[in-house]
Amino acid sequence: MNPVAILGSSELPEGGMKTVLVGEQEVLLVRGQGQVYALQAYCPHHGAPLVEGVLSGTRLVCPWHHACFDVRDGKLLEPPALDALTCFGVRQQGQTIWVEPAERVPPPPSRPLGSARRTLVILGGGAAGQSAVEELRRQGFGGRLVLISAEPELPYDRPHLSKDYLVHGLAATEAHAHSQGGKPEQQEPPAQEEGSHMHSHPALALRGEGFYRAMDIELRLGRPITRLDVQTRRVELAGGEVLSYDAALLATGGLARRLEIPGADLEGVFSLRSLGDARRLVTSAKEAKQVILVGAGFIGMEVAASLRKGGLEVTIVAPDPIPLKRVLGERVGRTLQALHEAQGVRFRLGSKLAAIEGSGRVRWVRLEDGEILPADLVLVGIGVRPATAFVQGLELAEDGSVPVDASLQAARGLWAAGDIARFPDPQSGRPVRVEHWRLSQQHGRVAARAMLGLEARYQGVPFFWSEQYDHSLVYVGHAAGWNQEAYWGEPETGDFLAFYGQEGRLLAACGLWRDREMAALEELLRTRRAPPFSAFEAESFDLVSLLI
Ligand code: NAP
Repeated sequence: MNPVAILGSSELPEGGMKTVLVGEQEVLLVRGQGQVYALQAYCPHHGAPLVEGVLSGTRLVCPWHHACFDVRDGKLLEPPALDALTCFGVRQQGQTIWVEPAERVPPPPSRPLGSARRTLVILGGGAAGQSAVEELRRQGFGGRLVLISAEPELPYDRPHLSKDYLVHGLAATEAHAHSQGGKPEQQEPPAQEEGSHMHSHPALALRGEGFYRAMDIELRLGRPITRLDVQTRRVELAGGEVLSYDAALLATGGLARRLEIPGADLEGVFSLRSLGDARRLVTSAKEAKQVILVGAGFIGMEVAASLRKGGLEVTIVAPDPIPLKRVLGERVGRTLQALHEAQGVRFRLGSKLAAIEGSGRVRWVRLEDGEILPADLVLVGIGVRPATAFVQGLELAEDGSVPVDASLQAARGLWAAGDIARFPDPQSGRPVRVEHWRLSQQHGRVAARAMLGLEARYQGVPFFWSEQYDHSLVYVGHAAGWNQEAYWGEPETGDFLAFYGQEGRLLAACGLWRDREMAALEELLRTRRAPPFSAFEAESFDLVSLLI
């Protein structure tokens, strides 16, 4: 087929992006560093229109979840996307840009070559483990590669669990309940004292089984690790299998913390960490009407939104005076609380549970001040602790996390990534532990390269997103503490950017409906080009133009 002429050159200035139609296909045209490139128009992660992202040199940042691609060849530079972008041929003739309609599909991760003399073992099938196996093969590692997961499923998209997975599960639930004539009545509490399944959700698996076969990745699923001996480089799995390795990546993530109060083990009390947990939660929600969420962290707030969408009555009980204050500050925290209250969520803040009560199954919870709240389902979201109890021959930090250097190496032959890794923050140099999905994926890629002896240091910028109702809040950077805050826009009334700083320096930012600016901020932090904090305190300015 002949190339299709589509655009006058002057319509695409330096740093410009435009989506055009080639036949019936949308193609993204980009002019970066004087060259024109044509690429797939939508992000392979969640389908964001990439034209709404930002360009920083030849680096294209997706507006929604900040996957990054090299516009020269479509190469994936940063997760959460797993795949590169498809590229199209381009040529410029005079003032006209021509695009070849035929796609140039980037080659899939190369089939491994070479001998199988080295064995690499990846402990954990979460974000970090999955990214690591993909990167190892992408880099051409040709030896034996084993991925071990305590969970029985193929690695899956955990962020969905508190969001779409619950919403869809409950939508099915609701239809079911209505067809059954509504939800059952529940037993009255005493008077107050004074004072789905992976198969029905195909998007959940990050890769199909065929991918692991083609990449020659040995899977050990549903196989908890019983012992890792760092000195002898041996891993023991439930069931007795023992694997010896040359290099291993410890990426076992977090275990949900449990409440240590009477009744915490009653039927109807849940955590939400795994797909198994999510399935049990959806099943139980079929019978539930009144839900108590313990903890006003990310699980508490996201699950509250998902359960309200499903029509359940929700009360959040948390010791914090303001939800998510520690992460997002008072003003954004209060705004989120108001958003939930407008949707009918009730809060008992500054409160803790004293007991969960019922005979065999939860019927109500008792707060420390004596208040009784009816409940036929309790979900505990009070944080996670590193899943490292099986590690021997390595000194762990007090909280059970694994201290690593900038290449994520913990000991000879051992690297650690994701929720369990205590790594040097590239901005401050101080050791930090960050529990974000995308950071775990970034870690997995860095650790994989380091395990192969390639130059690799974690130099990324942490990022997370949180969906609550129709609000998708995004956050870049890392601010364990801060003493300066600035706002563009009013969090209480609409779209906004919140900036967190210390000693005159921008540490992190959070935004609502300000996608391009948030993508630009990540690039500015990454390249250490963020203006001084005083600039954010003054009038707002064009962040995107700072990238050019
Ligand atoms: P979390 O975000 O760390 O929040 C835990 C909350 O529980 C905090 O507000 C904490 O208060 C509170 N808490 C601690 N002990 C408590 C107790 N005994 N009783 C009541 N509340 C207590 O943890 P999570 O919500 O359980 O989420 C688990 C993990 O999943 C985290 O790593 C989280 O980042 C991740 N996650 C992320 C997303 C996202 O990025 N969108 C969504 C879901 C889950 P203090 O702050 O005062 O300790």
